[in-house]
Amino acid sequence: MHELYDVIILGGGPAGLTAGLYAGRGGLRALIVEKGQDGGQIALSSDVENYPGQSAPGETGVVLAERMAEQAARFGAHRCADEIQAVELSGGTKALIGLNSTYRARTVIIAAGAHPRPIGCENEAQFTGRGISFCATCDGPFFRGLDVYVVGGGDSAAEEALYLTRFARKVTIIHRRDQLRAAQSIQDRVFAQPKISVLWDSVVQSVNGGDALETITVKNVKSGALTVIQADESAGMLGLFAFTGYLPNSGLFQGLLEMENGYIKTDENMRTNIPGVYAAGDIRVKDVRQAVTAAADGAIAAIQAERYLGQTDKEPSAGVSRPQARKKM
Ligand code: NAP
Repeated sequence: MHELYDVIILGGGPAGLTAGLYAGRGGLRALIVEKGQDGGQIALSSDVENYPGQSAPGETGVVLAERMAEQAARFGAHRCADEIQAVELSGGTKALIGLNSTYRARTVIIAAGAHPRPIGCENEAQFTGRGISFCATCDGPFFRGLDVYVVGGGDSAAEEALYLTRFARKVTIIHRRDQLRAAQSIQDRVFAQPKISVLWDSVVQSVNGGDALETITVKNVKSGALTVIQADESAGMLGLFAFTGYLPNSGLFQGLLEMENGYIKTDENMRTNIPGVYAAGDIRVKDVRQAVTAAADGAIAAIQAERYLGQTDKEPSAGVSRPQARKKM
């Protein structure tokens, strides 16, 4: 007989790890299920400079995530590495069916985050991992001394372009509009960095090469003109890093949970439309997706799960309908 947890937390990013910390600290039997590396999107971040109390400049997101995971473990949150393939969320006992095992709990916190949006250019799949990357921290060092291109105009594109100047000879941001979306303070640093230039009003149409990425065809969206960027003969390859936003990892929950554009709808207490099921972090409908707001969501979800469990324990039938009293919170 498998253990019945009080709460299973799906995802080991800032939302999931914080939910684990709060759930463990609240005395719940908590399990965090993560299929890969902890940290979610902060694991792709070279420098997390706006997380409160993050006092080590230049420290990577991976290191911050490790500290979050240690803290959750210190409060007794269990861990397991598995990839969930199916879920059963109705009823008092929820089940998450993974490749390795089935996990059961009375509540579930979905903190599965989001994944990078593809560039959407021709031959992208062929060159992903062979010149195209979605993680500067992971792959930047492979492009030492080379010309590197960054797609996107948000905080991620701007910050990672700055990071890539440590390795690349030259970094060119390719942005589809004529101004960046990134925070002004980050833009100021981008425009002050002599190694960075910007190709405005431009999108990547296709990529090409042999074993490595050798050409990038860029289209000017205003004039329609095509420019083929070619790797130097001596270098033989280019780097193309994409930071064009994220898409929610919510496929498992389609048809089960209420959603908006693929993001899970919650109330301000992270409750979904199914009692005992919560969503936290970038996977839910919200305006501001930051590590700090994900962590806050995780804390709220765990506290709400604890209250829900306390409430259902008091009910004679231990039913799962949402208690009226909680609507006042
Ligand atoms: P984002 O803010 O959604 O920016 C995505 C960028 O990619 C935009 O500039 C967008 O162009 C462009 N884009 C989208 N689809 C595209 C396509 N198909 N082709 C070409 N360009 C495309 O994403 P993000 O920068 O990853 O940030 C996500 C969230 O995390 C944001 O809330 C951000 O503030 C936060 N974040 C914060 C920090 C920080 O505070 N240090 C660091 C990283 C991320 P348009 O501008 O034309 O829409």
